Amino acid sequence: MQIYADNAATTKMSQTAIDAMLPYMQSIYGNPSSLHSIGQEAAEALMQARETVARCLGCEAKEIYFTSGGSEADNQAIMTAAINGAKKDKKHIVSTAFEHHAVLHTLKKLEKQGYEITLLDVGEKGLVTPRQVSEAIRPDTCLVTIMYANNEIGSIQPIAEIGQVCKEKGVVFHTDAVQAVGHIKIDVKEQNIDMLSLAGHKFHGPKGVGAMYCRKGIVISNIIEGGAQERGKRGGTENIPAIMGMAAALSEACENLEANSARIAKMRDKLIAGLTKIPHSILNGDEKMRLAGNVNMCFEGIEGESLLLMLDMHGICASSGSACTSGSLDPSHVLLAIGRPHEIAHGSLRLSLSEYNTEEEVEVIIEKVSEVVEYLRNMSPVWRDLKEGRRNHVI
Ligand SMILES: *Cc1c(COP(=O)(O)O)cnc(C)c1O
Repeated sequence: MQIYADNAATTKMSQTAIDAMLPYMQSIYGNPSSLHSIGQEAAEALMQARETVARCLGCEAKEIYFTSGGSEADNQAIMTAAINGAKKDKKHIVSTAFEHHAVLHTLKKLEKQGYEITLLDVGEKGLVTPRQVSEAIRPDTCLVTIMYANNEIGSIQPIAEIGQVCKEKGVVFHTDAVQAVGHIKIDVKEQNIDMLSLAGHKFHGPKGVGAMYCRKGIVISNIIEGGAQERGKRGGTENIPAIMGMAAALSEACENLEANSARIAKMRDKLIAGLTKIPHSILNGDEKMRLAGNVNMCFEGIEGESLLLMLDMHGICASSGSACTSGSLDPSHVLLAIGRPHEIAHGSLRLSLSEYNTEEEVEVIIEKVSEVVEYLRNMSPVWRDLKEGRRNHVI
């Protein structure tokens, strides 16, 4: 039996999304820029997909720009605000220490180009306060970029309040909402969001497709130069099948959002209750302001990688943090940002659930994780030192 609990890395495509894609590979394969009927049919579909995405976010269709995914949307939104800022001699950006690398690495690049970056402290629970944002904004601030929900520890930021602060101070506000869209109800106008990034594959749509919402009035800079696609702001023939799949998946996710998240949160809470019974373990992230599907734990005295490999042998697909950092030996920058010491951050486990998981699977996960943690601890010299008092417990 295979239990998939790595939905923050990517999700299984829904049948609705697959069904929505097929016609655009099999028969309506025209280029939406072509004038003949098969092209125009594709153009019509593209327009409808844009409207669907806009409806789910509470914006206008012309404020949606399709991209190759969340990373491209993050890059484009940040570069747009940075370039617009430089025109007014504003080269200061406020963000947080635990953003996705698509944001952090773009900010690093801008820093080398003479921008000043303030990374806010996210505290022990992984939460930023509107007050911190307010205090960090300066007369030369051109952008605040703060993720909606963290991909590793699941903490959800007070986005509407942060948006309000930015609006009052006249600073552009971008949020990387890749983990939130399709999972949390979003209204960009009500929440004062100027720019937002999303990715199809985090809500049961296809990979390699995403979107940037950009409030009208903001002059957008291109990342990909090319033809007149996406109102001239993103060159390249549109990936119609993927866009159709994403729109269908998003529509489905938004329709079932409340029922799904209630059921997923119930499984999450059961998982947390079961796993925190393991001695010398700790939950990462806030208990309440948390994505419905996210569980992130640290277990003292074990290596996260060994835990993952052994869980995989039991058919459980999990993660030690973000998919992007696994494979490197550095502990997660997110866990370090919330103040976990290196030796604890190394023993982390992220389980991310979706509506395709079941209560029975959750029971199996609890049982197997408990077994494997005990097994690994019995082999660990660090654990022996802890047990025999040569080393002090941190958690
Ligand atoms: C997955 C993810 C991204 C990257 O999206 P891609 O579509 O893989 O480029 C960016 N930010 C967050 C928070 C994510 O979870």
